[in-house]
Amino acid sequence: MANILIIGAGGVGSVVAHKCAQLSSVFSHITLASRTLSRCDAIAASVKQRTGRDIATAQVDADNVPELCNLIRTVQPQMVLNIALPYQDLHIMEACLECGVHYMDTANYEPLDTAKFEYKWQWAYQERFKQAGLMALLGSGFDPGVTNVYAAWVMKHELDTVEVLDIIDCNAGDHGQPFATNFNPEINIREVTARGRFWERGEWVETDPLSWSMDYSFPQGIGSKKCFLMYHEELESLVRNLKGIRRARFWMTFSQNYLDHLKVLGNVGMTRIDPVTFNGQEIVPIQFLKALLPDPASLGPLTKGKTCIGNVMQGVKDGKEKKVYIYNVCDHEECYKEVGSQAISYTTGVPAMIGAKMMMEGKWMQPGVWNMEQLDPDPFMDDLNAYGLPWQCVTLK
Ligand code: NDP
Repeated sequence: MANILIIGAGGVGSVVAHKCAQLSSVFSHITLASRTLSRCDAIAASVKQRTGRDIATAQVDADNVPELCNLIRTVQPQMVLNIALPYQDLHIMEACLECGVHYMDTANYEPLDTAKFEYKWQWAYQERFKQAGLMALLGSGFDPGVTNVYAAWVMKHELDTVEVLDIIDCNAGDHGQPFATNFNPEINIREVTARGRFWERGEWVETDPLSWSMDYSFPQGIGSKKCFLMYHEELESLVRNLKGIRRARFWMTFSQNYLDHLKVLGNVGMTRIDPVTFNGQEIVPIQFLKALLPDPASLGPLTKGKTCIGNVMQGVKDGKEKKVYIYNVCDHEECYKEVGSQAISYTTGVPAMIGAKMMMEGKWMQPGVWNMEQLDPDPFMDDLNAYGLPWQCVTLK
């Protein structure tokens, strides 16, 4: 029976709160805290209406470590689920160490002033978490998260050695808006406009942003979609932990409409992350753009269609070449019916709940800082089937 503190009341935080509340046998007491209290209260009201459960709410600035420590000492949780933004990761890890509670997140640290995410800052906490007897679980969303667990499961059950990994993220949903992002616009645009990067024979190869593409045919009626090569954070840990891998790439689908808008916004300077002076005041264009774009949480009732995220992995089993595709298909409207959110928030929030469950049930609990593929995939994969993200693994020719 766990007492947990969730930080971040955005699109994903809402799903995490609903899914944890559905599991009262594991999460006996839940507090949701965020920068804006009214957002926490709105989620708590929805949780009450859908599950009958009361969750506590609080206001906190997670970048202020003493303020966060005060909250942690008042709530006395066993763990903190960091569902705020990547900028908060290190501050929340510091507060967890100071207060002696376990930590989990869904995205790796990124400094506010440079669009550059890397695990090095969080991996540097390894010894401190180990010595404190605390666990930090990194990247328990879908990608990173489930894609890492898929890789570990394939290596445990389907392949003896792996040569090639392609992670393919398809959102075939349509929200009917001229331009919107499915999760935090600032984080999303910083990620998409960055240079591409993939792993090839022991080194990183860089590509111009969105300059490489392929067509991939997705199952369950989704059909063929254009996918673009991007750098994505799970590649960094996977190429370390999947021994002997020759090539690792990440692909994501985008509609032509999304790409056209992004190109114009980039051309006119609206995606810049450095401050500019406007009417005597400093503003950061991408933050101003975020204020104008639809809130991702508002896309829930509007989005129709499916997502399909999975890994194609090629290697050797029992001396023979083998290629498998392991994936989940998720329906935006079904997610909205269940928890009031679209599938991007849902596919991130469910694995966050399961990661916390693995820790609180002791199945994954071990001191130190861990990426998802370093832990036993089996209980996590069982829970994906049980809690809303069923998966399939097929052998490809
Ligand atoms: P949102 O912008 O919708 O929500 C972020 C929330 O964090 C907001 O409620 C915001 O508060 C709160 N917040 C921001 N700064 C602070 C702070 N200093 N102190 C307290 N609260 C703060 O983002 P999403 O829900 O879309 O994304 C949440 C996380 O999930 C992100 O890190 C994102 O990168 C990650 N993600 C991971 C994926 C995966 O598959 N691994 C996929 C999609 C997202 P306020 O309401 O006041 O703005």
